Amino acid sequence: MPDFIKPSNKLRALVIDLESMYGLAAVWQGRTDYINKNMLLRAPEVICWAARWTDSDKMMFSSIHHDGKEAMLQKAHDLISEADILIGYNTKRYDIKRFRNDFAKAGLNAPHDPEHCDLYSITTSQFDLFSNSLDFACKEFGIVRKIDTGGIDLWKQCDAGDAEAWELMKSYNCNDVHITALLWEYYRDHGWLRKRDMNYIKFTGDRQSCYSCGRNDSLEVTGQAFKAGDVRIKCSTCNSWDSRKEGIIVSRRSI
Ligand SMILES: [Zn+2]
Repeated sequence: MPDFIKPSNKLRALVIDLESMYGLAAVWQGRTDYINKNMLLRAPEVICWAARWTDSDKMMFSSIHHDGKEAMLQKAHDLISEADILIGYNTKRYDIKRFRNDFAKAGLNAPHDPEHCDLYSITTSQFDLFSNSLDFACKEFGIVRKIDTGGIDLWKQCDAGDAEAWELMKSYNCNDVHITALLWEYYRDHGWLRKRDMNYIKFTGDRQSCYSCGRNDSLEVTGQAFKAGDVRIKCSTCNSWDSRKEGIIVSRRSI
């Protein structure tokens, strides 16, 4: 979290990404395009995750190889339950549900259900990129790209317990969290977060703070808003646009 967030308003935002092992199925031909549940020999499962709090540089990682499945899941459960917001790429539709699958299968209780700042949803709603992958979005916005895994062979080697392959998986997973955090910072600092994505006002109740970056001393009135009685405002720190009832914003630079 940037240092301009007031401590009393501090939210715990966790950037997280998981890797999943492929499922196995019984098939009789190469053109099989639908796997019936009766053909499934092993369901896909979470094999590792990496995460970092936005106010810390410490990268956390856990895997079934390094910690065992039970400990790996419990650590993720604890972190998710501590977080106010999860930041990730398709976290809302994919990662959190895959985690819940495996939590439930392991007999764990439901974790806390944090708010989501899903960068995939921001990317697809704000832009019309050639590809909506994390890798491509990062490339387009000048962020260092993902590590090349070499494809499915890495998953096969990890499945076989190859220690060297697991180190590459760890680097890959941690790098994904690293670039996801960079993409979040890019969206935040350039005003691309929408009000529902990182709404500090909702969390803190401070209606003088910026909904996007949380700063409460950089809002400037830039004109009348479309709605009568509201003013249009801009955050000079993160460049996000918003509107509020006139009178809520104390400083009025120009109108
Ligand atoms: Zn701001």
